[in-house]
Amino acid sequence: MRRRTLALATAAVVAGAGMVVAAASAATAAAACAVVYTPNSWSSGFTADVKVTNYGTAVSSWTVSWAFAGDQKVTNAWNATVSQTGTAVTATNVAWNGSLASGATTSFGFQGTYSGTNATPAAFTFNGVACGPDVTPTTTPPTTAPTTTPPTTPPTTPPTSAPPQNCGAAEVCDGFEGQTGTTPSGNWAVTYPDCSGAGTATIDKTVAHSGTTSLRINGAEGYCNHVFVRSTQILAATSNVWYVRYWVRHTTALPAAHVAAVAMADANDGGKDLRFGGQNGALQFNRASDDATLPEQSPAGVALSAPLPVNTWNCVEFKVDGTNGTIQTWLNGTSVPGLLEDGVPTHDIDSQWLNRTWRPALTDLKLGWESYGSGADTLWYDDVAVSAMRNGC
Ligand code: CA
Repeated sequence: MRRRTLALATAAVVAGAGMVVAAASAATAAAACAVVYTPNSWSSGFTADVKVTNYGTAVSSWTVSWAFAGDQKVTNAWNATVSQTGTAVTATNVAWNGSLASGATTSFGFQGTYSGTNATPAAFTFNGVACGPDVTPTTTPPTTAPTTTPPTTPPTTPPTSAPPQNCGAAEVCDGFEGQTGTTPSGNWAVTYPDCSGAGTATIDKTVAHSGTTSLRINGAEGYCNHVFVRSTQILAATSNVWYVRYWVRHTTALPAAHVAAVAMADANDGGKDLRFGGQNGALQFNRASDDATLPEQSPAGVALSAPLPVNTWNCVEFKVDGTNGTIQTWLNGTSVPGLLEDGVPTHDIDSQWLNRTWRPALTDLKLGWESYGSGADTLWYDDVAVSAMRNGC
């Protein structure tokens, strides 16, 4: 491991703490912090372990900041709350690891995506004090042995518990807790694709998967009663893989008739929606441009999908890959075979879907209810995430 000493030309004042980091007695002053950044990369993603040692006086809270050199995007984190704006990243302590004695070390980690080179950030700050990567201080070694073992083991697979606050750089990440009125607002706008009628979308403060608030859809039958709430956070072209995760609760079993509950405009399909809903009592995808369904609506195909359980919160996840035009779907953490489009024709599942080349470019996310014949339902959506990595349930 490369080690070098980062000279700190002048004493630095830590904002808020009022702490002056004194120059060491040697000719060069030492940074009051050391950061060891250890990435573990694969083709398009990585995890990073960040060890931070406080060589200043004790602190009760900390913030570590850096800038990525490339297009790295943090998707989730552990043992710190990590936020990102552009290339600038800020990690703050969680409740139990804010206190850091002089000489003590703590660790946090995160998972992210990147393309090109996953370069190690050139510089770090700790409560505003420049550290630099792999810094060994020239001050007296701490009397307390730094903790070398992270408080918890970083996950080797994407975390399975990712409420919205852990969405990291997800393009959409919302548990609706910021909604104050009855009508969805802020990042959400109610839309009536055809003509407005009995279908309504409201903020519900009495039913929630997390917190106290969810999005409620009163879905009614018929063409004129379509209602959706559209995220105004347009899905970026920076990714062509979308992991959509949401929790949904509903009161009425999926009908025999075709219904859609989620719709995503596809810029590569004339702006027509990729729709996710149900038919014949089971979940299905439907491609609006040609009405292809996944699975096929044969009895055997329907049996390979799954109903959406009623009166309980369900975690729905699907991955839409625009590079190869594939879909994978999980219901409450279990992959659903009838909702798997893997590019290889499978009888009863995806031969209809594969009738033509399909390379989706999703540009929005709409949650609601769309019935084309019979079928009414009341649904609540919560903890919605769209990101380039699987968020889990
Ligand atoms: Ca909520």
